[in-house]
Amino acid sequence: MFLRVDKLQIELPAPEKQDANAAAALQELLGGKYGEMSTLGNYMFQSFNFRSKSKLRPFYSLVAAITAEEIGHVELVSNGVAMLANGPDEPDADMGDGGDISNASFEAMKDARLAGAFFSNAGGATPVNSNAMSWNADMVTTTGNVVVDLLHNFHLECGARLHKLRVYESLTDPTGREVCGYLLVRGSVHAHAYALALKKITGVELEKFLPTPNIPLDKIPECQKYLAEGSHRRLYTFSPDDYREMAGIWGNGEVTLPDDPPGELEIVEGMPDGGKIHDLVGTPSAFTPDYAPEEMFEIATKLYKKSR
Ligand code: MN
Ligand code: MN
Repeated sequence: MFLRVDKLQIELPAPEKQDANAAAALQELLGGKYGEMSTLGNYMFQSFNFRSKSKLRPFYSLVAAITAEEIGHVELVSNGVAMLANGPDEPDADMGDGGDISNASFEAMKDARLAGAFFSNAGGATPVNSNAMSWNADMVTTTGNVVVDLLHNFHLECGARLHKLRVYESLTDPTGREVCGYLLVRGSVHAHAYALALKKITGVELEKFLPTPNIPLDKIPECQKYLAEGSHRRLYTFSPDDYREMAGIWGNGEVTLPDDPPGELEIVEGMPDGGKIHDLVGTPSAFTPDYAPEEMFEIATKLYKKSR
């Protein structure tokens, strides 16, 4: 089962300006070949399909717990995409009616790279890549063979770090950069974790491959606070009671990668503190959440009071 918490894994800064093309670039990290839909889909179905779960508990727990983190990454990137498409936080922007809709108020959107993201989704995220190509089940590998699956996951995390860096290098807005900086650190943890799992089974010191690609995290400002707080040493269980057995793989005397701040690897029960989900402010002229939403807001306020 899954438990849902109404937060993001980190605090995101509000965007400085509306930038539909920056949102499109960030879509690559959601629905691209190595995007969060792919890591989620792979680990989720591998964990469902895992053979001999009881006997292989540490390995099963590792894939299961990382699955939960990945759905949070899907949520984080989706929020980043929608925030960039939406623009700065403006709490009162959704008040009033939409004005003269015959005035082509969204003329600029016809030139946006993913114009359909506005026309169909009001700038919201969907599981597509930066060119609107649909993410699909062909991106999921679940072979039933633990070594092949873990090796696939190791490759997936290395590939993910590569396109996170490239997307980072294409963005200047703080929202998109924060998403990339955090995910680069977490991707490094996941690649390291799958390497250690493979080492336990095969004896091959796959962690010596890392970092692949050789991305210097110390050169990326957005990574620094996550390294300082030790995020690169932590794996979370994302569960009140389960998945602690992965400490045999992540922990058990294993230490950080040579280029990262030194320390022992540790399992944290539960989840990170996280940050708030920004309100995606409505635009009445785009009929989000509607043309004149006041009555809807009033109804919701009454319902909220009744729930207290
Ligand atoms: Mn991820
Ligand atoms: Mn990952």
